[in-house]
Amino acid sequence: MRFFNTYSRKLEEFEPLDPAARSIKIYTCGPTVYSRAHIGNFRAYIFEDLLQRHLELRGYKVHRVMNITDVDDKTIRGAREARVPLAKFTRQFKQAFFEDAKTLRIKRADEFPCATDQRYVDRMIAMIGALISKRLAYQADDKSVYFRINKFPNYGKLAHFDLTQLQSTGRVKHDEYDKEHIGDFALWKAWDEEDGDVKWDSPWAPGRPGWHIECSAMATALLGDQIDIHCGGVDNIFPHHEAEIAQSEGVTGEKFVRYWLHCAHLLVDGQKMAKSLGNFYTVPDVLAKSYSGRELRYALLRVHYRVPLNFTWKGMNEARESLGRIDEWLARLSKIARKEKVQRPAPTATQRPIEKPGFEEALDDDLNISAALGFLFETIRETNRAMDENKLDAASASALLDWWQRINTVLDLEAHAEIVVPTEVTQLAKERENARREKNWKRSDELRERISALRWEVRDTKDGSQLTPRSG
Ligand SMILES: [Zn+2]
Repeated sequence: MRFFNTYSRKLEEFEPLDPAARSIKIYTCGPTVYSRAHIGNFRAYIFEDLLQRHLELRGYKVHRVMNITDVDDKTIRGAREARVPLAKFTRQFKQAFFEDAKTLRIKRADEFPCATDQRYVDRMIAMIGALISKRLAYQADDKSVYFRINKFPNYGKLAHFDLTQLQSTGRVKHDEYDKEHIGDFALWKAWDEEDGDVKWDSPWAPGRPGWHIECSAMATALLGDQIDIHCGGVDNIFPHHEAEIAQSEGVTGEKFVRYWLHCAHLLVDGQKMAKSLGNFYTVPDVLAKSYSGRELRYALLRVHYRVPLNFTWKGMNEARESLGRIDEWLARLSKIARKEKVQRPAPTATQRPIEKPGFEEALDDDLNISAALGFLFETIRETNRAMDENKLDAASASALLDWWQRINTVLDLEAHAEIVVPTEVTQLAKERENARREKNWKRSDELRERISALRWEVRDTKDGSQLTPRSG
């Protein structure tokens, strides 16, 4: 498996920190909850979802942390304008984020730490203290604490940024006069009137943490000094991730992140998304146009993460069409697989009648989803042709359905309307599983027939039997 590492600007073979345990630590920068996240934000979250699911398909155990930035300039300004306390203001957007993520079938991270949690604020303060004692940070006359970038020789390595350029950019904002260097960034911002009642005590002055130190503190608190993969959008590279490296490595002296993966922008009709251009969309905006979360997931997933994705309504219609082809294919396969009278042993991962490695291998290559989907649709075309000619037998259809179940753990694109399975059907399926366990195939077949008479279909997978409503 290989990934493009922003740090080296190279495709690198993936080697986890702890190869023996096959467990991987991933940190992903989450939303800043000052407004509802837009579909460009969700493009990055879907790329991270794809990364996690593919690693899991390949047998890795993933521990993923996604932070929630619930204190920064934008959240404070928003709360002030809405005349509500910061926590109340951000709560609605946290909820909206989780709702939208669910709509898009994004797997939940293991942890969602919030920057305002006192235990993380304590850790931020401790880290800032450590940086000051190493002379990597200083308190300026405005009482704020800044990181001294000239003392950290690797600063600029991630963004491939030349510090001399930074010096020559001239204008210094009024509130930054106190800094030693224009590129020094705030670790602790001393309180001012604009902050209202948002402040924490610190050894320097009452105030609040800078955005960058929030991520360093939460990442190292939950994942340790070193993590395998850190993701975000390309706009996070500088200064945010550059600053994360400087702060974390400045404190621990260890290499913070092995692989930096960044997702390219999302454009709308070839333009940057902006409220002023009227092309700014949230997930509910897309749903309001009668598209489903599944269709939007497909549209945001189908382009390689390092390529800018151009979102258009035509693209949404294409997503709908592509999913229709998958649905139709699955329905046809199920119909043929159902005709199977002879009981066959449940397939296992190692013993599959049809080997289809192309999909997974494409994803091994820096998550090449467009190639993986190309492979899927090629398979669909081939098997549709075979089915047209009555050349696909039940065993092959079942094998293809099993393959789909496997790759769908990554794609999560199967249609599932919120269907409630009737108790009677669940009960029959349970009895059938017992019969199968006792190798009573006759009884098992009878039960399958009874389930089928109730217009449900039972399918055996390696994770047990699955019930789907019968189509047609
Ligand atoms: Zn971050």
